[in-house]
Amino acid sequence: MKKKITLILLSSCILFTVAIIISYNSTKNKDLFQNKPRLPNKSLPQKKEPEVLTHIGIDHVLGKIKKVHYYQLNSEYRNSLGYEGRKDKWKVSGKCFYEIPYEIIDKNLIGNFKIRDFLVKDKYYISNKKLKSKRLNSSMQYLLIDVMVLHRFLDLLLFIKRCGYDYHKIRINYSFRYPNFNLNEGGVINSQHMWGKAIDIEVGDINKDGITDEEKDKKIVLDFLEKIFIKYGGIGRYPGSQTVHFDVRDKKARWNQQ
Ligand SMILES: [Zn+2]
Repeated sequence: MKKKITLILLSSCILFTVAIIISYNSTKNKDLFQNKPRLPNKSLPQKKEPEVLTHIGIDHVLGKIKKVHYYQLNSEYRNSLGYEGRKDKWKVSGKCFYEIPYEIIDKNLIGNFKIRDFLVKDKYYISNKKLKSKRLNSSMQYLLIDVMVLHRFLDLLLFIKRCGYDYHKIRINYSFRYPNFNLNEGGVINSQHMWGKAIDIEVGDINKDGITDEEKDKKIVLDFLEKIFIKYGGIGRYPGSQTVHFDVRDKKARWNQQ
């Protein structure tokens, strides 16, 4: 009897081992087979980054970026900005700048607008990898931006989207402009861009009728902006162009020309 049990146990042990070996080999072969038709990584479609369409989403992106106090900026760089010596320097002295390394400039900040769309296009701006490799030491950029203007910009994009228009036809011309850059670009002396509170946009064919015009496309944007900034904020209309300025100043301001 004992012999019989031992024999049964022994044979089942052998069977189990054989089963393990077979299953191991079959998975090995399976893996090999699966590896063969696999396409090289570079031919796989690039995963598209989701658009940022909530206020919390904007805060989340900003929350991950390192902030640097105005007085922590390199003194040479700080002097080149042009705040020093201005009577209204106090407006920037308590502020923090976002430190933007090249690696994150193509991250979505609002909708599919990238961080790079809000950066100053000055000598520190790096548009592509080739330039970056040439200028490793100056690969950092600093951005002063009021989160409120970003939230109001998102409100505008959501208005446009909900009404069935295409906000992808909007381009950002300017966002932050430090005083010296503002001066070079012909901005007004008290420009809200210097405090990161303003955005200039170019309105394309958002109503998708095949024509980019002031009467329809730009008017849609201006009407939405009036709904957003009822008691405060600036809106510049710039007739004869597709440009629109808006800012989050405390008082209400409207103008037709620069
Ligand atoms: Zn402007």
